[in-house]
Amino acid sequence: MGIGVDTLKTMTNPSYPHLLAPLDLGFTTLRNRVIMGSMHTGLEDRFYNYGKLAAFYRERARGGVGLIVTGGISPNRQGWLLPFGGTMNFAGDVINHRRVTNAVHEEGGKILMQILHSGRYGYQPFVVSASSVKSPISRFKPRALTEEGIEATIRDYIRCAKLAKKAGYDGVEVMGSEGYLLNQFLCSRTNLRTDRWGGSIENRMRLAVDIVRRIREQVGEDFVIMYRHSLLDLVDGGNSWEEVVAVAKALEQAGVTILNTGIGWHEARVPTIVTSVPRAAFASVAGRLRREVKVPVVASNRINMPFEANDIIERGDADLVSMARPFLADPFFVAKAAQGSADEINTCIGCNQACLDHTFSNKRATCLVNPRACYETELVYPKASVVRKVAVVGAGPAGLSAATVAAERGHDVTLFDSSDSIGGQFRIAMQIPGKEEFAETIRYFGRQLELTGVKLRLGQRVSRDELLAAGFDDVIVATGIKVRMPAIDGIGHKSVLSYIDVLQKKAPVGKRVAIIGAGGIGFDVGEYLVHNASHRLPVPIPQWTGEWGVDLNATNAGGLVKPTEAEPARKVYLMQRKASKPGAGLGKTSGWVHRATLARNGVVMMAGVQYNRIDDQGLHVTVGGEERLIEVDNVVICAGQDSLTELMPPEGSTGRPRFYKIGGAALAAELDAKRAIREGAEVAAKL
Ligand code: FAD
Ligand code: NAP
Ligand code: SF4
Repeated sequence: MGIGVDTLKTMTNPSYPHLLAPLDLGFTTLRNRVIMGSMHTGLEDRFYNYGKLAAFYRERARGGVGLIVTGGISPNRQGWLLPFGGTMNFAGDVINHRRVTNAVHEEGGKILMQILHSGRYGYQPFVVSASSVKSPISRFKPRALTEEGIEATIRDYIRCAKLAKKAGYDGVEVMGSEGYLLNQFLCSRTNLRTDRWGGSIENRMRLAVDIVRRIREQVGEDFVIMYRHSLLDLVDGGNSWEEVVAVAKALEQAGVTILNTGIGWHEARVPTIVTSVPRAAFASVAGRLRREVKVPVVASNRINMPFEANDIIERGDADLVSMARPFLADPFFVAKAAQGSADEINTCIGCNQACLDHTFSNKRATCLVNPRACYETELVYPKASVVRKVAVVGAGPAGLSAATVAAERGHDVTLFDSSDSIGGQFRIAMQIPGKEEFAETIRYFGRQLELTGVKLRLGQRVSRDELLAAGFDDVIVATGIKVRMPAIDGIGHKSVLSYIDVLQKKAPVGKRVAIIGAGGIGFDVGEYLVHNASHRLPVPIPQWTGEWGVDLNATNAGGLVKPTEAEPARKVYLMQRKASKPGAGLGKTSGWVHRATLARNGVVMMAGVQYNRIDDQGLHVTVGGEERLIEVDNVVICAGQDSLTELMPPEGSTGRPRFYKIGGAALAAELDAKRAIREGAEVAAKL
């Protein structure tokens, strides 16, 4: 998809007039109010990946976004997030970055380079901070910067900004939130200094303000300086609202063009972007800041659809809206909104599975719902030279992805599912409190089926003979999995249910429940079972802030208050055989949220459990060498799955049709929707 540069300059849509209105910054005009926020993709760290990085940004600029912000680029070695991270320190760096700026400008877009000094969050031995206070998320203790070190750091920021201007960037974003270096200077949590850089807020903000002022002096007036300011630190020792406002006003005086906003330090124990955070939960805080300053203010965090984004600007909470992950999910977000096709947007579901979880595992970022993200030059869907008759069996994530990509390429595709709706297990997943967003992926694929002309045959469980008789050239088997029922004595007892019985068939469940299997599904079933039916879903913002102890008015410094008491609907025991910590295998950036939610609801997590038998009394187990009876009304089995491969021909078969296995049908172990969707796209790209 792509619409011309000239059209994008003037596009509007009656549904989103505020979001799509241009913004005149005096010396330059943004074509709309949408910012693609900074994301570390992993491509910026190696010079030889800048061609891929340029292709990534080019596609987003072509899709109409008003302003792009790059992933964090360190002003010096001490500021690296990871060893040998992306830099802009030498004239030689300029050549690589020019590939990016040229690509964006050719598509009529604008781009800022983010300057990010990680301070004590750096995962490398050269880390520095305001004081020598170790962070809980890096094993490297920082060295406190000396006076000379601070002056050298300011000069490094200035050099970095000047080089960015030389490389063709329209400006820079100075990263001052999320607990990175400038935030570390700003807050007494990490700034214990007694010199002119510590103590009063005037002293603690000096570094941030000096950096902005001195960059402005060097780059002139026609260069954007956006500052990302932390509005709620969500940690003890964070700033009060008065301090947040004082810093914002000083930054305005120092010469910022735009104030972007950030919520929560990385070490905060409050989720700020995962899927269970309500949409636009923090926009009202940006609104409070906007009433204090004259420069444009940006709202961010868990905004993922044009309606909410437009609404934020319309009600005066912000001048611009920043969305980062939604542009991994769909580069054409803005163009689709402008064309009145929001139902075609591939929505970011906030899972973090392929973006942040990859970044924190040192892997290239991509997207669960869009495997082309950051692979624009590698995963391509060329028009088919010969049209093939393709059957896809199974309309779960794997089959939906395969069918839509194959049809987009021009193949003649029929998609079968035995169920009466599409989505497969993803439709079950969206029943889980906090996973309501998963419905958006099913909506997206449903619309793609219509647009690409896939012939959908629901309620049809096909056999191999039927497929052979129908004369297909290719059969893609995406039949997923069957639930594994472990061989426990009494597994047939009436109290035993599978997760499918509970989530899909809505079997009644008693007040005391044991869950066998503490993988992703066991945790999800736990959340489903403790959820109090009197509470609305998706959880409204005031209820969510209460549960996590967030004070959007920041009455206390840092914005934290005592959380409300949980009211679990049931007593739940969650068990596994392994001795390791339950939930250790959950997502790197989201697992702790699931563990904290269950702990808050009094779920008893048990590891090293041997299951002996199930009977009228409940579940008999051995734990730590001792036999125990867990008195429960129901035992819910979440003990993994096995592949469903009945449609595959015998090993070694050749001839027409060719059979391919993808998703759960190919391998049930460690299956997730990320792998399922990627495998579907890859197989279809090669047909
Ligand atoms: P499935 O989704 O199982 O789809 C297979 C489809 O094939 C089904 O619709 C079935 O009806 C159909 N079918 C089978 N046999 C036939 C036949 N002979 N003829 C016609 N149709 C047939 N994954 C994540 O990545 N992140 C999560 O947060 C997450 N949470 C989850 C929470 C829950 C509660 C559950 C149950 C799953 C969750 N998953 C999650 C897992 C994810 O849903 C699966 O990995 C994914 O759905 C697998 O996709 P698939 O297409 O291979 O198989
Ligand atoms: P899983 O993560 O592999 O967990 C299966 C659980 O069952 C484990 O706790 C395992 O622990 C236990 N188990 C396995 N065999 C058993 C047996 N024979 N008897 C008793 N217990 C047994 O699988 P899942 O929970 O079914 O999830 C399926 C996939 O969906 C996962 O791979 C996951 O990636 C995905 N998913 C992801 C999320 C997410 O938030 N990212 C959420 C839900 C699902 P022991 O062997 O120690 O007992
Ligand atoms: Fe959004 Fe998940 Fe994609 Fe990340 S991986 S961009 S959170 S949908």
